[in-house]
Amino acid sequence: MSTIRILSDRVANQIAAGEVIERPAAVIKELVENSLDAGATRIEVEFRHGGRSYMRVEDNGKGMSKDDALLSLERHATSKIIETVDLDRLSSFGFRGEALPSIASVARFEMQTRPAAATTGTEVAINGGKLLHVRDCGLAPGTRITVTHLFNAVPARRKFLKSDATESAHIIQAVRLYALACPQTAFTLIEDGRVLFQSPVCLTLTERVAEIFGRQLAGDLLGVEAVEDGMKLTGLIGRPGVSRSSRHEMITFVNRRPVDSRTLNYALIESYATSLAKGRYPVAVLFLDLDPASVDVNVHPAKREVRFRSEGQIRGFVIRAVLQKLREMGHAVPVAPVIAVVPPVAAVVTGLHQTARPEVALHLKTADAPVISSSPGQFSVPPFSVFRAPPAVIKPATVPPFVAPRNSGLAGWRFLGTAHGDYALFESPAGVVVVDRRAAHERVWFERLQAQFARDELASQRLLFAIPVELDAIGSALLLDRLDWLAKHGLEVGEFGRNFFRIEAVPVWLEPEVAEDFLRDVLGLIREGRLDEKNPRLAEEELARLAAQKAVRLPETTNETDALALVARLFVCTQPHTSPAGRPTHFELNRGELAKRFQR
Ligand code: ADP
Ligand code: MG
Repeated sequence: MSTIRILSDRVANQIAAGEVIERPAAVIKELVENSLDAGATRIEVEFRHGGRSYMRVEDNGKGMSKDDALLSLERHATSKIIETVDLDRLSSFGFRGEALPSIASVARFEMQTRPAAATTGTEVAINGGKLLHVRDCGLAPGTRITVTHLFNAVPARRKFLKSDATESAHIIQAVRLYALACPQTAFTLIEDGRVLFQSPVCLTLTERVAEIFGRQLAGDLLGVEAVEDGMKLTGLIGRPGVSRSSRHEMITFVNRRPVDSRTLNYALIESYATSLAKGRYPVAVLFLDLDPASVDVNVHPAKREVRFRSEGQIRGFVIRAVLQKLREMGHAVPVAPVIAVVPPVAAVVTGLHQTARPEVALHLKTADAPVISSSPGQFSVPPFSVFRAPPAVIKPATVPPFVAPRNSGLAGWRFLGTAHGDYALFESPAGVVVVDRRAAHERVWFERLQAQFARDELASQRLLFAIPVELDAIGSALLLDRLDWLAKHGLEVGEFGRNFFRIEAVPVWLEPEVAEDFLRDVLGLIREGRLDEKNPRLAEEELARLAAQKAVRLPETTNETDALALVARLFVCTQPHTSPAGRPTHFELNRGELAKRFQR
């Protein structure tokens, strides 16, 4: 007897579901796309427990007849394409005809649907791919799909789900993207009975951004529009000076489809290279429209990657369009950048090298200035040989005052000065030591804050004038859940009105001027699920890391006393060799090596 069998449809669907439906957010994405494809002008999304127990997507789109409703649940049943060539003209979100049968094979699935012309609707219920019933039902024109008990029948997949908070963040992000893509459709998003956002039909993208991200951000954005060679770029970009600590607010769409595109992200980062501090990212909501034939959206069933046929052309186009806008705004782009697109992706940008970040610098070449080679590779850099175990005199547990302690192991050290602001140079008995002030400062503060948190030391200062902060609805919801925790760590934030907050007290180490930025950065961590309540130690570590990097200012200049004090503090850290982000804090050139270099 042959051992090869044709898989039953049910098994085939469950396998396909593995590719399309990796997590609750993927279900929501597929259903919302279907609603948009059906011409809906109103979509309501509700979910509970990060989507694992309950998800509902309801629209007022064109609905389906009973026959179509049944057909839509067959594998590869789609009303959207007929031939492969249609893929090149794709204007709908869906085309594979896989989503509905896949979802229905791994959950309990109920669909109620009615075309406007029909008098009654159809209800179809399926559990784990098995048809339970088909019957008539009453319903306003449109479609309501309810998905419960996701992956109940597929425990292997259920195991891979993250915490409810994380799954919920993915769902929220997905809905937000489609709400941005389609401002003309009203969206409501409800989690565990609470409305996270509700946006009416908007006439413009700016209005929609204001609805879901808050008016403040909307006011920080500039409209862009450019056309070139059959490509069109529209959307909003941050005014110079507006930036974020993560890439999450660089939002891009290609032919209205939300995408993750390195090409577009890099183009954006390059455009802002001169105006963004290290580690900061631009804010943008950009729509690129181009001939569907020149972009491949069929890379992966569920992922948002796209592939462009000519990356270089697109990159050049986006950079030109964004820089043009920034220049119109009188933003100081130091030298008029000359952009030539060098195939395949590298763009040559003149005069931008000084402030470009490392990852950008990879793609930038200076046409005029020769690059002065200062590669550390020329020296043999002994990794951290000088600072061995901290001398026993100083106990790491006691926080010494911010002056160089005596007997700190710095006997015979002499401060020579700073180089390029950031590097402090010392003569030590063993040789010459170069300290990265930034990295050392971050390490010292990171451990200091961790110690404070561990001791529950709550040194905060009440602000004379509270700082108002407007957040988007999702940010507000997430923040509300963490107010107590933040207050416990010295950052007191009060709610006053829908989506409006006030920073009332800040930890002593936080400069009030950067308090708002810091709060937004904290929110970024919350969004990424990195301030997990279930893991308070890790959450505190994340907070300390962020504070050390962003909130505690490094003095621009230093003098002998401060420089020695910084090094002394670094010595007593438990991990003096690296910054909290893992960068080296210092290195030594010992006398032997110096002698060797000078062939003594
Ligand atoms: P695809 O979107 O790739 O065509 P799906 O499995 O997502 O495949 O949907 C199958 C078909 O069911 C669609 O082509 C469409 O005709 C129909 N359909 C799905 N959802 C809706 C909806 N909300 N309103 C109207 N028709 C729908
Ligand atoms: Mg679909």
